[in-house]
Amino acid sequence: MAFKKIEQYDEKIMPGLIHHYSESLKLLGEDPEREGLVKTPERVAKAMQYMMQGYDQDARAILNSAKFKESVSEMILVKDIELYSMCEHHMLPFFGKAHIAYIPNGYITGLSKLARVVDVYARRLQVQERLTTQILDAIKETLNPLGVAVVIEAKHLCMMMRGVQKQNSVTTTSAFWGEFEKNETRSEFTKLITSRLH
Ligand SMILES: [Zn+2]
Repeated sequence: MAFKKIEQYDEKIMPGLIHHYSESLKLLGEDPEREGLVKTPERVAKAMQYMMQGYDQDARAILNSAKFKESVSEMILVKDIELYSMCEHHMLPFFGKAHIAYIPNGYITGLSKLARVVDVYARRLQVQERLTTQILDAIKETLNPLGVAVVIEAKHLCMMMRGVQKQNSVTTTSAFWGEFEKNETRSEFTKLITSRLH
């Protein structure tokens, strides 16, 4: 199967970004002209734009594009969705897993769309708390379900590589709405995301 490399960058802002990353390298005591660094400002400029592409994407439109009438009213859960984002305080990555559940109320969406919603909000400068509630709100407002739950477990490089250097700490954030505000539903969800059965 052919692998198609998708480049996501805006030619108009490239010269400015390249210039500033090159200046930053100098200020940090590096020589941007040395062999290994010659193309680094350009690579960083492209990588950063890729990681910020969520600003141009619409989570609600993605969910609406695969919204189907369906009478199922059991909990739908997608767990262990890979997540890579950037902390807005240090511009360093945080990464982990998202678990999303909702209880439909007439409409369901494609399962892959839930994973895409995670990417839309993760590919921006973020704090984990806001990322969690943005995912919840998009599902709540688009599908009008009976309940939504979002849990994110992530490791933050800004904590692991600098500052307190807590290598193994995992930050967990959660947001619950509707049926999931009831203890019984929430504990069923928690049991499902912590079980080893896939
Ligand atoms: Zn940080």
